[in-house]
Amino acid sequence: MGWVQSLRDHGGRRFIDLRDRYGITQIVFKPETDAALHDRSHELRSEWCIGIRGIVEDRVKNGGSPNPKLSTGEIEIDVGQLEIFSRSEVPPFEIEDKIDTGEEKRLAHRTLDLRRRTLQKNFALRHRVAQSVRSYFDENSFLEIETPALVKYTPGGARNFLVPSRHVPKTFFALAESPQLFKQMFMMAGFDRYFQIVKCFRDEDLRGDRQPEFTQIDAEMSFVNESIVQEMMEGMLVRVFKDAIGVELQRPFPIISYDEAMSRYGSDKPDTRFGLEHIDLTALLKELDGGGVPLFQETLKKGGIVKAMVLPKKHEMSRMELDRLEDVVKQLGGAGLGRAKVAEGGKQWTQSPFAKMINAEALAAVNQACKVEDGDVIFFQFGKPKLVHSIMSGLRLHLGSQLGLVPKGLPTPWNVLWVVDFPLFEHDEDSKTFAAAHHPFTSPKIGDEDRLKTDPGSCKARAYDLVINGNEIGGGSIRIHDSAVQSKVFDALGISAEDQERKFGFLLQALQYGPPPHGGIAFGLDRLCMLLTGSSSIRDVIAFPKTQKGTDPLTHAPTSVDAKQLRELHITTLP
Ligand code: ASP
Repeated sequence: MGWVQSLRDHGGRRFIDLRDRYGITQIVFKPETDAALHDRSHELRSEWCIGIRGIVEDRVKNGGSPNPKLSTGEIEIDVGQLEIFSRSEVPPFEIEDKIDTGEEKRLAHRTLDLRRRTLQKNFALRHRVAQSVRSYFDENSFLEIETPALVKYTPGGARNFLVPSRHVPKTFFALAESPQLFKQMFMMAGFDRYFQIVKCFRDEDLRGDRQPEFTQIDAEMSFVNESIVQEMMEGMLVRVFKDAIGVELQRPFPIISYDEAMSRYGSDKPDTRFGLEHIDLTALLKELDGGGVPLFQETLKKGGIVKAMVLPKKHEMSRMELDRLEDVVKQLGGAGLGRAKVAEGGKQWTQSPFAKMINAEALAAVNQACKVEDGDVIFFQFGKPKLVHSIMSGLRLHLGSQLGLVPKGLPTPWNVLWVVDFPLFEHDEDSKTFAAAHHPFTSPKIGDEDRLKTDPGSCKARAYDLVINGNEIGGGSIRIHDSAVQSKVFDALGISAEDQERKFGFLLQALQYGPPPHGGIAFGLDRLCMLLTGSSSIRDVIAFPKTQKGTDPLTHAPTSVDAKQLRELHITTLP
């Protein structure tokens, strides 16, 4: 049984590639086997669904040649019976592994798109990952318990989808952005190991690797610290990689601090499969009072930073190519790209606006810090740390890919690491307020609680992220299990005592009755599967995804509903 993939006549015989979930089998209609059936076979077309019965034969004995690309490549079936289950219209695109049909069209005909072997393989792998996760957690005494999707709206995290309640007029549920507080309450209830493969919903602006509904591998454990959680989760990932793609990940995974990641890569999810590390020149240039370069001097006076990155001579670029990088930097939000080419045994800089300004001492010091030789080019960025980091990290990734330093797709080296010691809060310069860097239930580092009030910006979190090949695949933390500390964190976030009670009363209440120390993590299943399949989009590992615009070209959701439905929900819409 299967679908007609392709048809051809050869030597008076009709050959068809018959496709099903397991692959392709060559079938052949021979006039000498059944002349009428051979005639009838000319009626068949692509994507017709048929069943056949016949004799399995050796292709070579039949005078053909084996197809080493097919697992069934040594045989063919001499058809004796044919049943046509259904006919097909001409499909809007070919059912091939690789096609260049636009995604919108593929999604509008997703049933056909999903027939393609590439996607069939992706979903088989996704299934394998889910089974592997389930058996690992089961073997380690985790309970899979479901949490509600319709939850109370609590501000502060991601933007929620709202669902109007018909029973309680003018009120709304939120769709859960994650099971966070429920899994913490599981721990307080005494289920000391929980996991769930769970749908989460976030009404965020959609970027390449984001979907409004996505799946998490969510876990929580009681009586743990960071390393116990990390060790358990390393075991899970090692199992998944082995089961899904046969790769043996090396343990323990390296751990890098947030500060070090920012300093060396400008990113809290560094891709360390290649070098091009950043060099922080701030302290050095401060000592030299800007080294004679007024822009450096000004930046440092205003509390800014100066960072550099070296393009080694072996990757030499033409002036035009270097100029093009300037545009890349502008797209990343920068004003421009300062650069200097090292010359004359490191005594001179050329092609550089700084060359005439920088004094000899600073030039030598920068060269030494950057460990450069003649022909190397130093790139500079200076200004506010956040912007400098994001530009330099974007530039590093751009160069890494332009210079072919990172493999695209598979196979690839697997670079798995933990990033730890995140700041507890992020400061919003415009509103002068603090927001939780992970979420407000994350425990401050031991000893940092005292500074929650006086200097929240300096507090570190007991949080950890898991990064694979430059993608944030998981994030979690040790949670607060002391209601006084929880209140202090809410205070630092500017949530009034009244609001704490109104919004998080259920959590504060649960924290009154002997909560255990606990912590956990959630992994993005879609992103993980994207990496494991070497897909370039998470939409290739989600059976029915939304487009970048958050719509579904297949069912045309979202749609408007009629006035009566809205009235029942006590809702009116604006013109
Ligand atoms: N709930 C968190 C998230 O969705 C993960 C965690 O802290 O376990 O990012």
